[in-house]
Amino acid sequence: MKISLVVCNVCQDPKKPTRQYRVASEGRSMVADLCKEDGAPIEQLFEKQPTTTRTRRQQSQVTSMEEIERLKNKGTKKP
Ligand SMILES: [Zn+2]
Repeated sequence: MKISLVVCNVCQDPKKPTRQYRVASEGRSMVADLCKEDGAPIEQLFEKQPTTTRTRRQQSQVTSMEEIERLKNKGTKKP
């Protein structure tokens, strides 16, 4: 019997579940499998990215730039 197991590229701990990331930078690209801990810096980037579905829930609580501009215009606009 053969078992293939995906382990984290960094810590290679077979007990930790991994998530696959595609990383690209300056012409180089790779697919990395990272556990929760080692993928945390990348997950942080996703959290700061406003277009992802992960942060869509948060976004509704935060005033967007468009909203701010609209409010600004409303305040300064003379009738
Ligand atoms: Zn790891």
